[in-house]
Amino acid sequence: MKLARLLGIDYLREGYPTVDLSTKEQVARQLLNAASFKKIQVRLFWSVAAVIGAVALQITLNQRGNSSLSPMQSALLAFLTLIAIAANVVVALTYRCPNCRSTPNGVAVKLGGEGVASISRGIHPFPVRCKKCGFYLSKRQIEADLKHQQQQQ
Ligand SMILES: [Zn+2]
Repeated sequence: MKLARLLGIDYLREGYPTVDLSTKEQVARQLLNAASFKKIQVRLFWSVAAVIGAVALQITLNQRGNSSLSPMQSALLAFLTLIAIAANVVVALTYRCPNCRSTPNGVAVKLGGEGVASISRGIHPFPVRCKKCGFYLSKRQIEADLKHQQQQQ
């Protein structure tokens, strides 16, 4: 999570709507939301890995020359790559907060040529909370905030 903060893609914690963590039921609700989101997150990582794998395989085989593959095999490989990319798009579209269905966006700051900084918005890979409804998307963050709450009392 430190890396996300360094890259400037982590949200400021002040930006989240307030969520009640005072009762066990509320905490359980947040834990459930985080657990549901984790499944979606894992799906995203697998689909990204599939695309990277397919592209890497294409590059490796292309370097070996076309003689090692029959036209049928090449077509099949291209087809598999397309499927992996399509799966990626579908997964990215369903990458949403389980509670309010909003997509966790992140802001990335990049340094362009001549020292010009550009800001782009994209999917946040490690959101800790939903910016729209404030629900937790990370179990670790629930634990950290509960600890913080106990220390204040
Ligand atoms: Zn939400």
